[in-house]
Amino acid sequence: VGWSGRGGSTNAAYPTPSTPYVRAIMRANRSRDTGPELRLRHVLHSAGLRYRVNYTIRTDGKRPITVDVAFTRVHLAVFVDGCFWHSCPEHGTTPAANATYWSPKLARNVERDREASATLELAGWTVARFWEHDEPTRAARRIVDLIGHLSCDVRVGISTQSGN
Ligand SMILES: [Zn+2]
Repeated sequence: VGWSGRGGSTNAAYPTPSTPYVRAIMRANRSRDTGPELRLRHVLHSAGLRYRVNYTIRTDGKRPITVDVAFTRVHLAVFVDGCFWHSCPEHGTTPAANATYWSPKLARNVERDREASATLELAGWTVARFWEHDEPTRAARRIVDLIGHLSCDVRVGISTQSGN
């Protein structure tokens, strides 16, 4: 199944892969970045949940943050992080070729993830991060739980919505 990579083919910034092996890893990891997210979204949708995909959140003085799956009413931001791009402790690896390119780049990704989470939380969002290796139905169950809790908070808190 050919998942189209997030944001299309924006690989202009990547170095020329030095070996077919590295090229294959890059290609595989790019597609694996989106496959698990689609599976999770499918489970969420089947459960009757509605959400925004690739939802951009702007906060003062920070670069906009694009959330993989956003539940805007309860301010829940969900990320599905690719094991390679986000250096999963179980599956994250640095390609031996171009290591001087990849190591800082992958470290920067992790740092950026941390910053994005912190920024969103400061702005009142709850952040849930999953790895692409996480089982979609388990992830979905956690999201449903979170939404349950957050919905209570919304009801108890300042009523921003009209009606009942
Ligand atoms: Zn992993």
